[in-house]
This record gives sequence, structure tokens and C-alpha cells, in this order.
Amino acid sequence: MAATALIIGVSSQDGSYLADLLLAKGYDVIGTIRRSTNFYQENIVHLSGKIKIEAADLLDGESIARLVRQYQPDEIYNIAAQSVPADSWSHPFYTGEVTGLGVVRVLDAVRLFAPHARVYQATSREIYGNVSGVATEATPIDANNPYGIAKAYAHMMVRCYRESYGVFACAGVLFNHESPRRSLHFVTRKITAAVACIKNGVRQLPLDELGRPLVSPEGKVTLGWLDSERDWGYAAEYVEAMWLMLQKDQPKDYVIGTNTSHTVRNVCEIAFAHVGLDWNEHVATSEALLRPTEIAALQGDYSLAQRELGWQPRTSFADLIRLMVDADLARFR
Ligand code: NDP
Repeated sequence: MAATALIIGVSSQDGSYLADLLLAKGYDVIGTIRRSTNFYQENIVHLSGKIKIEAADLLDGESIARLVRQYQPDEIYNIAAQSVPADSWSHPFYTGEVTGLGVVRVLDAVRLFAPHARVYQATSREIYGNVSGVATEATPIDANNPYGIAKAYAHMMVRCYRESYGVFACAGVLFNHESPRRSLHFVTRKITAAVACIKNGVRQLPLDELGRPLVSPEGKVTLGWLDSERDWGYAAEYVEAMWLMLQKDQPKDYVIGTNTSHTVRNVCEIAFAHVGLDWNEHVATSEALLRPTEIAALQGDYSLAQRELGWQPRTSFADLIRLMVDADLARFR
């Protein structure tokens, strides 16, 4: 009989790649979305008829518990979150409820109704806040924004349920990972979408996070701090690490990154150069897009994952940005 996997937040970048991966491995996949008046979910259109879609919300514990009880999944991946760090300052309570407490609703449903299930919880590099250098699983938690603090709580609750109740739960401390399915809320995708719109002369522009057209009439995209530095990898590869964690004999937390880092400026250079444009002519900056507190430049040391899971990143930073630009050139015509 095929194994059953429940993906909470299947409409996300990671949830949709994970569904692709699990289907290829022969799983029966149930994916949750939130009830919404906007039913179009671009990332999962291609999954129609291949997975079972259910409605659930991390704010509503019963909606999670019902699915855990009903499907008795072998594996549960909680991908869902208020996932935008920048929005967590304007929505600190909501972020705590969804990204922090929402995780306990999942863990407790497993403890009560499907204690055999294996759980993957998406935590984040943001739990390390302003620590700089190279992070391993032993790096102290020092989150410095509402999103990172909610993820830190989730991270520690995973360990708590593992040690206190014997739940097979793993936290993935994932560094930034991008793809053509990344939301426009995030800077890499914002840049690659802007490049495509400028190059293709798109008139019906998507809106940016301030509700303005992504590209100004002067042909410029507005960004925040260009020296902001991140460890960026490819999401389609990162979901493989999630699955590998749940195949081990013992549950454990793993850092998943590329052990390299680049700046937002580097993203601009590569993305605009890929279509023969000079980024200096098309990028403006605004203080309105700065974070109240930045996180430090930090690289994710994936050696434990490499040793124990056999996982390592394969796509370079430059290739990742180029493949995102190519996808956006095809999408925005
Ligand atoms: P996305 O931003 O693409 O998607 C977030 C998902 O969460 C969406 O499916 C969204 O549903 C769902 N969601 C939001 N609020 C709720 C709620 N109240 N109840 C149920 N579902 C909800 O996420 P990513 O794929 O980028 O990231 C996946 C996970 O990994 C997230 O937990 C994120 O915080 C974490 N992470 C991501 C990193 C990255 O670089 N991508 C780095 C480190 C951690 P809807 O479509 O309805 O909005």
C-alpha cells in the first residue's frame, strides 16, 4: 500500500515542490490550502487531480486535528506559516499565532491522534538572528525579529514534543531558498520578475509589497538594502532534504544551506546581465523597504545533512538566478 503524506500549506513554494517529489516516489498526497475567496493557486495548478486538496488553517486547531485523525498519515510536513519576515513587524500577534502556536496545533494533533506519524517542521535560519559567520545545528538561537522569534518557539517545541512525548519530529533549519515559484514578497523573485517585465515591456504590471506597480514609469524597481547578504539555494533541492530527514531511524534537526552567501546587489547584477541590461539603470532604493533590524550575513553549514542524509546543494547561485529570470521571461509577456 502506498504511504500517505499530509502537506500543510501545499500552495507554497516548498509545499508544491514537495508534492511533486512525493508523487514521484509513489505517495498518496493530501495537501491543505486555506479557504479563500481567491481560489486560483498558481503553484498547484499542475497538481490538479493528482493530490487530494483539503482546507485547513493553522489558526484553527480542529481543522488540523480532523485531517490528522481522518487520514492517519505516515508523514506530515508542516510547511505553512506567516512566512514573510518583513510583514512580521506589522503583524507580530498574527505571526506568533500562525508561525509559532500553529506548530503546536500540528504537534499536539499528532500526539493525540496519530502518534506513529513522522513530522517535518519548517523552521528557519532566522532563528539565529544577528549571529554572523557559519551556522551549524549547534549555533545558539538568537532571533531578533517577530518572525524569527516565532520560528524559534516552533523549533524548540519540536524538540519538546520529541523529547517529552516521543513524537518523531524533525526541524529543518533552512536557509533562504528560491525558485520560479517563490512569492513576489521576496527580493530575489521581485528582481527576476522586474527584469522580465522591463525586458518584455509589460504594461499590466504586478504590484510590489507597497501596492505600487513593480516597475516605475521610468523603468525602475525599488528595493531596500542592496548590501543585505543571504545564503540562497534552490527550493526544488531543499524539499529533498525534508523527505530524507523523515526516512532516518531517529528524528533530528538539520541545517540546510549552501555554505555560501551573496548580496542583493549580486542578484541584481546577475539577473539584469542575463538579459543584457545594466542593473544600475533599473534599480532604485527606498528607506521604506528597510527592516527595523537586519539579520547578519550567515552561511548554512550543511555538513551534518551531507554526512547523515547524503544531501548537498547542486545548483549554483548564478544558475538559480538565471533560471528564475528565464521562468519570469516566459511568464510575463
Ligand atoms: P510560502 O510563503 O510560499 O507559503 C506559505 C504557505 O503558508 C502558503 O501555502 C500559505 O497559504 C500558508 N499559510 C499562511 N498562513 C496560513 C495559516 N494561517 N494556515 C494555513 N496555512 C497558512 O512559503 P515557502 O515555501 O517560501 O516556505 C515554506 C516554509 O519554510 C514556511 O514555513 C517558511 O516560513 C519556511 N522557510 C522558508 C524559507 C525560504 O527561503 N523560502 C527559509 C526558511 C524557512 P496561502 O497560499 O493560503 O497564503
